[in-house]
Amino acid sequence: MLFSELGLGPDVLRAIEDKGYTQPTPIQEQAIPWVLQGRDVLGCAQTGTGKTASFTLPMISILASGRARARMPRSLILEPTRELAAQVAESFETYGKHHKLSMALLIGGETFTEQVKRLDRGVDVLIATPGRLIDLFERGNIMLNDIKVFVIDEADRMLDMGFIPDIERIVSKLPKLRQTLFFSATMPPEIRRLADAFLSNPKEVTVAPPASPSETVTQAMVLVHEEDKRKALRHLLRTEDVKNAFIFCNRKRDVAILQKSLESHGFNAGALHGDMVQSKRMETLEAFKKGEITLLVCSDVAARGLDVQGLSHVFNFDVPISAEDYVHRIGRTGRAGRSGRAFTLASPLDGKQVSAIGRLIKREIPLIAIDGLESAEFLSEDEARRGRSRGRGKDKERGDRAPRAERAERPDREERAPREERQARDDRQPREDRQPREERPSRDDRPVREDRQPREDRQPRESLAAAESRRQEPRRDRDRDRRRRRDEDEDDTPVIGFGDHMPAFMLRSARRPAPVESTEQSSQEG
Ligand code: AMP
Repeated sequence: MLFSELGLGPDVLRAIEDKGYTQPTPIQEQAIPWVLQGRDVLGCAQTGTGKTASFTLPMISILASGRARARMPRSLILEPTRELAAQVAESFETYGKHHKLSMALLIGGETFTEQVKRLDRGVDVLIATPGRLIDLFERGNIMLNDIKVFVIDEADRMLDMGFIPDIERIVSKLPKLRQTLFFSATMPPEIRRLADAFLSNPKEVTVAPPASPSETVTQAMVLVHEEDKRKALRHLLRTEDVKNAFIFCNRKRDVAILQKSLESHGFNAGALHGDMVQSKRMETLEAFKKGEITLLVCSDVAARGLDVQGLSHVFNFDVPISAEDYVHRIGRTGRAGRSGRAFTLASPLDGKQVSAIGRLIKREIPLIAIDGLESAEFLSEDEARRGRSRGRGKDKERGDRAPRAERAERPDREERAPREERQARDDRQPREDRQPREERPSRDDRPVREDRQPREDRQPRESLAAAESRRQEPRRDRDRDRRRRRDEDEDDTPVIGFGDHMPAFMLRSARRPAPVESTEQSSQEG
């Protein structure tokens, strides 16, 4: 099928041609005609399938006629993270370059002033993360009753990040008569229920997720002792023809540590994780996309859905905790028919996870050896469990028992993980009992809800009824929102003077000073 057969306008087709796309992807082929007909769409597709263009292209055609009024955007796209929101904004710029649509990007971590100015001028397309949108709505900077097209992207991710009550609140402010496009990589029952509540007689389009990595990705695994992983990584980075690479760690803290270690060994490496301030995240990503940084050490959440063209390598510094993440991670390379290479560094405790990956992708990842590094072996599940619960795998025991000659080969203090990291590792709970750390969004990507029960005690996902009852509690909501606002604002925007928050005492009308005697008198009386 050709793009010209989908019903898109001539200027959009021109932009697609400029971009060099020759054929619509399956999700585009299925979704675009329905969107253009004004139907609600329930799309089951993940990033990498061309999903973004499947809604941005027809939206540009739909919004081409009509004008936006001040503070009343005509369309709204909700994204779970700032990076994804920025990526969608880029798509609008690319595909809408022959149109004069105005756009605003409302994401946390940036000043309100610019965003408000944009809204005041009137926008056709508003792309936002839920927290910032609610803040601006509550400040009266925005009205949502002129929204014609509403998109919820990555709905399952929103659910994981606890954004669903916010989204329900946003939906309650939208006009009933609107077109809704709802995308999710998976369709668990909670997402299905939300879709039923938000969509009206939708057309369902489904694109099968890649069950296995693309054939264009060459995979290999190195099995070494934990303490040798950095050395193994450096060896691979030096011997492979790395143009640019994502290096995935399972934990945010390890991202920063590994990046510093690589830098100290002369590699051009940046870091991307949820604890970084937004401006730094954007700056790093931009530098990586431009090729100013070659290696990007990252966490799954921070790098989720990020689209970097022509990535030559992916390195898993840690074996991902979930097998699906392995497929997602290595799927960053070998895209669009290009070849890519993916290396995974495994340690003796990772046998169970590696088996799970093998079962999912229906083959074993070939093991390779690294010159000068002793290959290790996976521990049995029992041994691994014992090792973990003691906080010391055979790995460590081996380190203690290593013969003198071998000890000389072992990394020096600097190369080994810093003491704090080793201590933390030792203090960790057994792997099975932990939530994957990175699955929990960083504070700046989710609303702060200190008033809720601790995570373990709560129902993992909130029902619509529960969300409804929460909506009945405006005071609690207000407190939470205030905390979230403070959290988002604090993360990198320098506040000058009182910022937007005028203390109440400054708003009180000034009284004329009382004569001195009477003040004294009154204080005596008091
Ligand atoms: P997405 O799933 O929206 O994150 O898109 C993944 C990648 O596919 C992006 O780099 C897009 O630029 C690219 N892409 C989207 N549509 C097409 C198409 N029809 N042909 C080739 N590449 C595409």
